[in-house]
Amino acid sequence: MEPPKIWREKRQRYLGIGVKCLDCDYKAFPLTSFCPSCGSGNVQEYKLAEKGRIIQFTQVNQTSNDMMANVPYAIGIIELEDGIKVTGQIVDIDYSLIEIGMPVRMVLRVLSKDGTEGLIKYGFKFIPVD
Ligand SMILES: [Zn+2]
Repeated sequence: MEPPKIWREKRQRYLGIGVKCLDCDYKAFPLTSFCPSCGSGNVQEYKLAEKGRIIQFTQVNQTSNDMMANVPYAIGIIELEDGIKVTGQIVDIDYSLIEIGMPVRMVLRVLSKDGTEGLIKYGFKFIPVD
């Protein structure tokens, strides 16, 4: 039996879970129930690589929601060591110091806090690796 969708999405956000195709070895993120490459339903969840490199980044100066309250912030496309590309916020570094190719690591951070209900959302962000 499949776990409920919400639970699955939560787990994906918390841990950085992707899927691996057991037929053609293709890796994908976010989670999908079939292989985007060969269409096989023979896929298995796996933990994404935590380290990668920045292949593109940009500075965001405005935001229309409270998801990322602290503007400006940097958003980057990170190519993980297992070849998966993910988008995420780059934190713990001055924007002027961010470079293409810079090694980064996935960390679990607070994404937003809902003041009325005290709900805290977690998700992954990226920090530079020495
Ligand atoms: Zn496949």
